Amino acid sequence: MIIGSHVSFGSEQLLGSVKEALSYKANTFMFYTGAPQNTLRKKIDEKLTKEAQKLMKENGINLQNVICHAPYIINLANKKDEEKWDFSIHFLEQELKRCDELGISYLVLHPGSAVGYPVNEALQNIVDALNIVLEKNYQCMILLETMAGKGTECGKTLEEMAFLLKNVKKQVGVCLDTCHLNDAGYDMNRFMEFLENFDRQIGLEKIKCVHINDSKNSLDSHKDRHANIGYGTIGFQVLLQICLNEKLKDVPKILETPYVGDTWEAKEKKYPPYLFEIAMIREGKFNDHLLDSILSYYNK
Ligand SMILES: [Zn+2]
Repeated sequence: MIIGSHVSFGSEQLLGSVKEALSYKANTFMFYTGAPQNTLRKKIDEKLTKEAQKLMKENGINLQNVICHAPYIINLANKKDEEKWDFSIHFLEQELKRCDELGISYLVLHPGSAVGYPVNEALQNIVDALNIVLEKNYQCMILLETMAGKGTECGKTLEEMAFLLKNVKKQVGVCLDTCHLNDAGYDMNRFMEFLENFDRQIGLEKIKCVHINDSKNSLDSHKDRHANIGYGTIGFQVLLQICLNEKLKDVPKILETPYVGDTWEAKEKKYPPYLFEIAMIREGKFNDHLLDSILSYYNK
């Protein structure tokens, strides 16, 4: 199973990300090239990249399976402020360039929020923007993420995703997110049915990454709040079966579950859950003392 989590890309850039992933016993990972909420980005350091790639090789992490995530503030759907739309396009081009420098194959992107636009126009804005971005050739492929449908988010139904994929001239792929799908109204208890539906409308080969998250909210809630594995409304067994699904065997699974604090309710969240969540999934056994395991490990 190819499984990892979101990790940071700090002062050591990709090298720091690899070290963090290894600390979770992961064999892949996902990172943002800077803070997810802003567009401040440092230049990619070639020496650190080489060291990172070497460390990956030594530890059996295939660079092909490593994922980058574009910041949330890129919004290709809203063209009302043309300057902002242009900025999003330009920033996305820079992200793809950075991915190419790092040797990363896949960049996950939220399709965007319609804001004042009717959905069909917003979807067309996304297509137009992607067609501009992809006029240049990049090694790295954009993966459009399935969204929860919070606010005016686009990409909340398979029909919307199919429209995007059909109309973008160059190849783009898809990143599924179990929390988003649940919140968008797709029952993860019927995942096989969902995959058949996906295959009919889009094609299974387009799925290049799956975000494995539990959800704090119920089916069709349109909320998008991730919960720790087995501690949400989707549940451990359902998420485990998705991880074990034969049709997605070669697709990297990435956890984006929340950090925990000294209690589940703690305001300050400082401990990463990934070492223990990855272990649960690999062993196929639910840890009903997840919080205690995390706290005793990081407090020792
Ligand atoms: Zn996600």
